[in-house]
Amino acid sequence: MTRCLNCGADRASDVCEACGLSSSAAEFSLRKRLLNRTAIFVLGALAFVAASTWYPPLDLDGILIFIGILFFLTLGLAIWLERRALRHAEVEAMKRTYYGLIPVPWLLAVLLVANGALDRAPAQIEVARVISRFAMAGAMPSRRLVVTSWREGHRIERIPVNRNDFDMFRRGDYVDVKVEDGLVGIPWITGVSHH
Ligand SMILES: [Zn+2]
Repeated sequence: MTRCLNCGADRASDVCEACGLSSSAAEFSLRKRLLNRTAIFVLGALAFVAASTWYPPLDLDGILIFIGILFFLTLGLAIWLERRALRHAEVEAMKRTYYGLIPVPWLLAVLLVANGALDRAPAQIEVARVISRFAMAGAMPSRRLVVTSWREGHRIERIPVNRNDFDMFRRGDYVDVKVEDGLVGIPWITGVSHH
């Protein structure tokens, strides 16, 4: 017994009794849906990157590594699903897992925006010394000031900054880092200025 790739119903003959599609039409329908959902997922990842630029979390690099792993796992799953669909193999369980992962970057983007936009508490100012600077060009340029940490158990902080702030500071400078606690407890950076 195989399942229809389109609707998931058990199927005894080539034409599915539940949705009326032949096995090749069902395959086409599934692959089209996979492609559409993948597009929604990729847009969600971009929305997350945008949100993390507006309300940069203090621990942005760790969060980006998590998102990156999630991104490639999900795309890997999509490729694997597509290959199985081509062979008309069973896909139901993995398809549900895949569909479940699609909204995750969107939810994380909304969480970051809510964490920053709805945070009404005044920023705390932490004094830190710039140890080094790090910039990466490319499609998603990232600039960090590596500074001494004010948090217990942390040696350094990698502060996400914009280009202006990045160019303004040198190694050894003392800076005021404005940190917000965040509505849902994700500390984020509102700005950096000379101490
Ligand atoms: Zn069907």
